[in-house]
Formats: sequence, structure tokens, C-alpha cells
Amino acid sequence: MASQEIEALAAVLARLPGLGPRSARRAVLWLVKRRDTALVETIAALRAVQDRLVECATCGNVDTRDPCGICADPRRDPRQLCVVEDIADLWALDRARLFPGLYHVLGGQLSALDGIGPEDLAIEALVGRVASGGIDEVVLAMNATLEGQTTAHYLASRLEDYPVRITQLAHGLPVGGELDYLDEGTLAQALRARRPVG
Ligand SMILES: [Zn+2]
Repeated sequence: MASQEIEALAAVLARLPGLGPRSARRAVLWLVKRRDTALVETIAALRAVQDRLVECATCGNVDTRDPCGICADPRRDPRQLCVVEDIADLWALDRARLFPGLYHVLGGQLSALDGIGPEDLAIEALVGRVASGGIDEVVLAMNATLEGQTTAHYLASRLEDYPVRITQLAHGLPVGGELDYLDEGTLAQALRARRPVG
């Protein structure tokens, strides 16, 4: 029987994506054995994230400043806006500077099954950005899942009255593919071959 502290930490870690109860307990044990080294570093890194990171009020990215480094970068093309479901997707696209413009993070995808409607996502903020002008193209970089495509169609219908070109990633993307699992070559190809939403 493990101590209450170990159980409590394991329970918290088990909520992390990709970590089940078993691997969470192994991680806790690993940290406990390294109380003076890795555990100290982990606590410091967690504290830095809590203390310094903020959400960008413009795009939804997280950074040490608001507006974030991407939104504040004058070398980026503000006429191109890439809409992603998740911050991880933004990072995937931005790893190799695949997209030269700015981003908008929705914070999820529409899902009747999970009860996630338009009001749960940053959709009004997206419409607001487009409505305020200066954007020529909106690239809908949704995952190649049913929910991702439903989300893309909904967004396209919300934006159809504005004078912007609406495109989506080409689906050489594997069906069911999530952006942040794709290698850069596949992602670059999907972006290059993007096509109008129709
Ligand atoms: Zn930003």
C-alpha cells in the first residue's frame, strides 16, 4: 500500500493525456527516487508554466506574453489566417514555419456526441477577426476526422458573407489523421495543396 501522498500524485498524473493509472504510478516512483534532482526540476518547470504562461487574447496560443510571439511578429503576413482546433496543431504547423500568416485556435471541435456546440469554441472571436477586415484568406486546418470536417463546414458557412477566400487542407491527410501526429512533409504537402471549401 503506497502512502497517501504517492496515491494523490499518481491520481493527478493519471489524468494527463497518454498516462493511465499504471504509468502514472511508475512516473511517481521514478520521481520519488530522484527527489533531489528530477523532482526539483519538475516542480520548477511546472511553477514556471503556472507563473509565466498566459493565453493570447487574439489567437488563443499560450506564451509568456499577450499578444503572443506569433501575433506580435511583424514578419508574418496578417492577410492569411490559419484556423486550428488545438494549440498542439498550431505548434505542429509552426514547427517548421510551414504557414507564413497568423493563427486562430478554436479550442476544440464541434461534437454533438460530447455536447460541444459553437458557443463552446472561439468561433465568435474568429468571425470578429474576419469581420474587422484585412484578411484575404482563411485556411481551415481541421483534423481529418468527422468532427473536424463538420467544424470546417460550419466555419465556412459562418464566414461565407465576408470577402475572404476560405480554403482547407488537402486530404492527402490520412482519414482520422490528427495534425500534430503528422510529419512535416505530409503537413507541408497538405498546406501547399489546400483547396477552396466546397
Ligand atoms: Zn497570439
